[in-house]
Amino acid sequence: MKNLFDQNNLKKIIFNFKKIGVTRDLAERIYTSRLLGSNPNLVLHGGGNTSVKSQIKDIDNITHDIIYIKGSGSDLGNIDQKGFPAVKMNPLLKIMEKNFITDEQMVHYLRKNLIDIASPNPSVETLVHASIKEKFVDHTHSNAILKITDRPDGLKVLNKLFGKNFIIIPYVMPGYLLSKKVSELYKQNKDLKGLILFRHGIFTFADTAKASYDRMIEACNKAEKYLKNEKIKKINTIKSKKIELGFKDIAATLRGELCSKRDYILNFRTSSKLVSMINSKNIKDYLNKGVVTPDHVIRTKPTPLILNIDNYINSKDLKSYISKEVAKFKKNYINYFNKFNKGKNLFRILDSVPQIILIQNLGMFSIGRTLKESIVNGDVSESSIHTIIEIEERSKFKSISKKDIFDVEYWSLEQAKLNKSESPLTGKVVLVTGGTGTIGYSTAQKFKDNGAEVIIIDKDHKKIIKESKKAEFEAFTCDVTSRKEFSNVLSKISIKYGGIDILISNAGSAFQSPIAEIEDKDLRDSFDINFFSHQIAASECIKIMKTQNNGGCLLFNISKQAINPGKNFGSYGTSKAALLALCKQYALEYGQYGIRSNGVNADRILGGMLTKQLVNDRAKARNTTAEGYLKGNLLKQSVDPSDVADAFFNLATSKKTTAAILTVDGGNIEASLR
Ligand code: ZN
Repeated sequence: MKNLFDQNNLKKIIFNFKKIGVTRDLAERIYTSRLLGSNPNLVLHGGGNTSVKSQIKDIDNITHDIIYIKGSGSDLGNIDQKGFPAVKMNPLLKIMEKNFITDEQMVHYLRKNLIDIASPNPSVETLVHASIKEKFVDHTHSNAILKITDRPDGLKVLNKLFGKNFIIIPYVMPGYLLSKKVSELYKQNKDLKGLILFRHGIFTFADTAKASYDRMIEACNKAEKYLKNEKIKKINTIKSKKIELGFKDIAATLRGELCSKRDYILNFRTSSKLVSMINSKNIKDYLNKGVVTPDHVIRTKPTPLILNIDNYINSKDLKSYISKEVAKFKKNYINYFNKFNKGKNLFRILDSVPQIILIQNLGMFSIGRTLKESIVNGDVSESSIHTIIEIEERSKFKSISKKDIFDVEYWSLEQAKLNKSESPLTGKVVLVTGGTGTIGYSTAQKFKDNGAEVIIIDKDHKKIIKESKKAEFEAFTCDVTSRKEFSNVLSKISIKYGGIDILISNAGSAFQSPIAEIEDKDLRDSFDINFFSHQIAASECIKIMKTQNNGGCLLFNISKQAINPGKNFGSYGTSKAALLALCKQYALEYGQYGIRSNGVNADRILGGMLTKQLVNDRAKARNTTAEGYLKGNLLKQSVDPSDVADAFFNLATSKKTTAAILTVDGGNIEASLR
C-alpha cells in the first residue's frame, strides 16, 4: 500500500480551506482523511472514521476544547469541514466515568454537546477517539488487518507482528462499552501507536496528521507483507461452464422472486476474478460463516444466497429452482431473526430477501432499494468475498458470532446509516423513449423526483451524449423503430437494474400532407415511428414484465389526432389512431398478468413538436395571437410539458386503471372521449 502523503498537496489544502475560514487543524484532518477514504482496501462507502482535537471560539467568545469527529452520512473519500461536527471535549471525558449508558443516551449526549446543533450526528465511535490523548486519530477497516484478525491464529500472528506498540482488543460491539474497554487499556499501556480491534479494524494515532496516517499505512503494509510471505493452498473450484439461459430471463426471474413485497434494483457485476472466487467448491461454507467486519452486515445481510444454474436450460425449471432457493433463504433469515430477537421483542424484522445473490459461472447480483444502494452493497460484498477467500487460502475464515452479527444488524445506530427516504416509485425502473424531447424529459424528471430509476433513450445521438455528460439520467442512443437496437438497450438495463417496471413510450414524429397526396414511403415512415416503434418497445418490455410476474405498466403518448383528426395531419392521425387501438389491445391481453396499459392524449403543448414558429403560423391562420392560440381551450390556460408528465405519473400510480386515455389539452370538447 502506497503512502500518498504529499507535503505540497497538504499546503494547498490548508491554503484553500483557510480562505473559507477552516482552521489548519481541521484542514490537515480533511487531507489525510481523504487519503484514507480514497483507498478501498482501507475503507468502503462511509466506513471508518477520523478525528482531531482542537479548540474553537463559540459566538459568545468562549473558547472550548473540542474534537472534530467524522459525522454520520459522510464518506472519508470526499469529506469536507461539514462532515466533521465539533463536540466539546470535557463532557465527553466526564461521561466516560460512568459504568454504562445506553446507545440512545450516548447519541443524545453527543448531540447536546455539539458546538453547532445543526451538525450531523457524531460517529458512534466518538468516545473511543476522545479517550485517546493524541491529537489525530484514524480508524479503518483495513482488509490486510482483517485478513489476520479473522482467523483462529489471528491473535498469535498479531502479537508477533505488532508487539507492544499496538494493543489488540477482543471483539466488543462498537458503542459505549467499546469506548470503556479502549479507554481502560489505553491508560494501562505506554508508547502506543495504535489499537487493533479483533474482527473489526484498526486505530492509529499521533500528534500530527502525517504521523497518524504514516502509522496506519505502515501497519497495513506490515500485515500485507506477512500475508504475502505466507504459504498459499490452492482452493478447488467447480468446472467452468457457459450458462445456456438468456441473461434477461435470469435477471427478471430473480427480480420477480425478490420484489413480491417491495421493489428492488438488482445490479449485476462480473469479472473472471469474481467468478473464480464464486466458483470455489466450498463457497457456501466460507460465506455462511458471517461477515469480515461488523458494519458490513447492513450491506450484505449475514449471508448471501449462492446459486448454481448450470443445468437449467428452460425458464420454467429455472423459475421453480430460484423460487425454492429464495424461499429457503427467507426461512433461514426469519429463523435467525427469531432466535436472536427472543426475549427482546424490540425489533421488527427487516425484509427477509437476500441482499447479495451469487451465481456460479455467472457473477453477482447486489440488491438495494436504489441503484446507488445496490452498487454500494455489491462493492462491500465483493471486497469481503475477496478477503474471505484470501483467508481461506492461508488459514480458516472466522467471523464474529451470529449473535454479535445480529446485534449490529439490528442496532439502531447502524440502521440509521441507511437512507430511509422512500418515495412512491422507489425501486421502480422506468424507461422513457424520445427522452430528450420536452415532454419525454419533463416526464423523466417527474418520475425521478418520485424515486424511480429513470433511463432515457433517443435516436438523437448528440443530445444523448449531452445528457450522459449531465448525468441526470442514464441515457442511451436508440432508434426505437429497430427491434434489435431496442432489445440491446433492454439487455443493458437488465444488467444494471435487473428488469423494467414502467415503459413510457413517447417517441413520435409529425408529417404534414393531404392524405390523398402523401407518398407511400412517408405514410409508412409515420407508421414506423408513431405505431411500430410503440409495438416494438411494448412487446419487448412485456417479455420481461411477464417473467418478473410482478405487474408492470405501459404508457403511450398518443395524441388527440387519434380521435379528433386535423386537416393535412392524416399520416399522423391514422398512425396515432392505430396506436390508441394498440394501447387498448395490450390492456385487454395482458391485464391477466397484472400489466396495465394506458395512454395520454396531449394537445398544444409548447415545445416538442410544437415549435414557436409553428405556434405563430397556427395563430396567424386562426387570426389570433400566439398566446391566444396556446390558451384557446376550455380552461383558457396554456398547457406545459410538465402537465403531460403529471398525467403519465398519475396513470402510473393509479393501480386499478387500465385501458384509459387521459386527455391533457386544457379542454377541447371535440377531442374529448365519448
Ligand atoms: Zn469501525
